[in-house]
Amino acid sequence: MTRSHRQNSIRLISDRSSSITETQENWELTREFAQDVFTDEVMKRLLPADAYKDLRKTIDDGVALNETTAESVANAMRSWAQERGATHYTHWFQPMTGLTAEKHDSFLELSKGKAIIKFDGSQLIQGEPDASSFPSGGIRQTFEARGYTAWDPSSPAFIRRDPNGCTLCIPTAFCSYTGEALDEKTPLMRAGEALQRQAIKVAHLLGHNRVKRVVTTVGCEQEYFLIDKQFYVQRPDLVNAGRTLFGAPPLKGQELDDHYFGAIRKRVMAFMEDVDRELWRLGVPAKTRHNEVAPTQFELAPIFEASNVAVDHNMLTMEVLRNVADRHNFACLLHEKPYAGVNGSGKHVNWAISCNERGNLLNPGSTPQDNISFLFHLAAIIAGVDQHAPLLRASIAHSGNDHRLGANEAPPAIISAYLGDQLTAIVEAIVTGKTLAEGDGGLMHLGVEALPPLTKDPTDRNRTSPFAFTGNKFEFRAAGSSQSVAVVNTVLCTVAADSLAQMGSLLESKLTAGTDQSQAIFETIKETLTKHHRVIFKGDGYSDDWVTDAEARGLPNLRSTPDALPSWVSEEAIKLFERHDVLSERELRARHEVACEKYNTHITIEGRCSSHMVRTMILPSILAFQRRVGDAIVSAKAAGLDDSTLSTQSALLRELAGYYATISKGCDEMEQGLAKAESIEHAPEALQVFKAEVLDRQATLRESVDTVEGLVEDRLWPLPKYHEMLTVY
Ligand code: ADP
Ligand code: MG
Repeated sequence: MTRSHRQNSIRLISDRSSSITETQENWELTREFAQDVFTDEVMKRLLPADAYKDLRKTIDDGVALNETTAESVANAMRSWAQERGATHYTHWFQPMTGLTAEKHDSFLELSKGKAIIKFDGSQLIQGEPDASSFPSGGIRQTFEARGYTAWDPSSPAFIRRDPNGCTLCIPTAFCSYTGEALDEKTPLMRAGEALQRQAIKVAHLLGHNRVKRVVTTVGCEQEYFLIDKQFYVQRPDLVNAGRTLFGAPPLKGQELDDHYFGAIRKRVMAFMEDVDRELWRLGVPAKTRHNEVAPTQFELAPIFEASNVAVDHNMLTMEVLRNVADRHNFACLLHEKPYAGVNGSGKHVNWAISCNERGNLLNPGSTPQDNISFLFHLAAIIAGVDQHAPLLRASIAHSGNDHRLGANEAPPAIISAYLGDQLTAIVEAIVTGKTLAEGDGGLMHLGVEALPPLTKDPTDRNRTSPFAFTGNKFEFRAAGSSQSVAVVNTVLCTVAADSLAQMGSLLESKLTAGTDQSQAIFETIKETLTKHHRVIFKGDGYSDDWVTDAEARGLPNLRSTPDALPSWVSEEAIKLFERHDVLSERELRARHEVACEKYNTHITIEGRCSSHMVRTMILPSILAFQRRVGDAIVSAKAAGLDDSTLSTQSALLRELAGYYATISKGCDEMEQGLAKAESIEHAPEALQVFKAEVLDRQATLRESVDTVEGLVEDRLWPLPKYHEMLTVY
């Protein structure tokens, strides 16, 4: 009997690891790191001293770049890039697709028919992609479709190496001609500025007068799956929707816990080595790599950086993962839930606030001065999370992420904060006005007394909390693996800026009223925590009790993307973003529109893909098997066997016919749902219809398909199966 395409693939894949070629080239990490980056060091070396000084002012203090300096920088950047073989440059930006975008221009100009090289200051600073096809949420009408890209000097330019050439990539923001943000970077930078404004004000009120620069820092732990390309291309669902829409549970899943932190297979190691080197050359500080919980799932985490750079670097990381995977005959799956029944992928966003002079403001520190500033910022973040939980939820709302949140593998959709036992006790003590322990009078006068040293106990990390304090940073664990973390950071910064502003005013009014400074600071912390400590939760976030408890506390539980997205345009959200000059109402509404369209489009693709697979692959294979069983019965009868001997075969035939009918009907219903959802004109109004009548119906349809997969003869099943994709690589 001939082998099926699928079965041939399995043979081919199992031979792959033996054909890995080992290069063993000498690779010196410190020399190669950031080789392809136009770093501060390079700029210092290549720029005239004055130009370098001007540029630093632009990078550090946001002072506008003057024309002469721009010329110098462009010149230096171009010759540096050319030396590395670049023939083209591109403004590299992040439209609201959640991906990156680029349009390349060569350095070539013609002068009297002769080739010359040209790249000047204005080309560096501003680009004009004909970008009418990027989502704008209605901000750009097609007749004024132009947008422009503007250089972001705070994120360094870099060279992208492709098989036959190199391109100079210049990180840029992307705006409409009327100055409205059309990308993810612009609001992120505005939110960073808003936070800086409020944090500096607070620092000065707390007596730290030399603070003049505040940034947030971010480290993203990126999870992903690998699958062999042979399997990948045979699954229209993976290729088009990023996740498997059908597939019976694997024979062996993650129940043995034998993958997590396990020895990394040779073929995967070869891939990871290449990824790390490529990232290092690009200046992305890749640090850890390991096997994750689900079979064929892995994680990569970098060293944290200033959030604007960290966001760009995470976008680059995702790109490098995809590209290198392709070279290694893998596909890298960044979807949040490529396979049902095993863990999905998230992206923990580690987040802290840092300033010149005093370093990480979320570090409890060891002096009373540090302690009180720490508590002040901690209180601000807790207040922010409590007041704007729906917005934090909306910032990670995405069709893929809905499959993990609240599914006992990722935090629930209820946003709460976890502080660990010791810090929770301290917060409660502050709120209730009780001393922490007998004899520990220090805390009560916490005005300036010292905090006890906080222990960082890795065992009491609550993995079920969406927003956990882990020693000197918060970890937002609800973000999805495929998402741009720009949005999360924009919201975190804005929310923190808002609480700091509130607390700053409160403190100011107390000081004006003549309250002693330490007393005033302490009262501000206490009043803030008293109002908002309900959002602190240290129990099991996966339990049903928490759902009831959270409801009693008045915490919102926005289960799905359709439930969460309206929060973008709530009255509070509009006021919040406007108050801090992060997004105007028009920009916010545009973003909401884009997010709704994106959700609807993802579900549309899943619906179409399901229907294609059912009609052209699954139903025909059931039919083929029915025919084989039918033929077998006929020949057995011809050979003289009677009906009673053939009763099992006949029952199977009936069962198959039953499934054929159920699946066919389920598919009809899903298609009707899709048609209905697609006929709704306004994206926000269609969300719940897409969910209930396409997504949910697809899930029901899937149940029958997955059962029938266990009945149909293996050779006739057209799709690579879970137990193959999750074990053969
Ligand atoms: P784990 O969460 O597994 O214990 P780590 O605590 O070492 O791992 O850090 C996880 C991520 O958090 C890393 O990317 C790390 O660089 C980042 N991180 C550490 N400190 C900070 C900080 N102050 N701000 C932002 N990210 C940080
Ligand atoms: Mg972590």
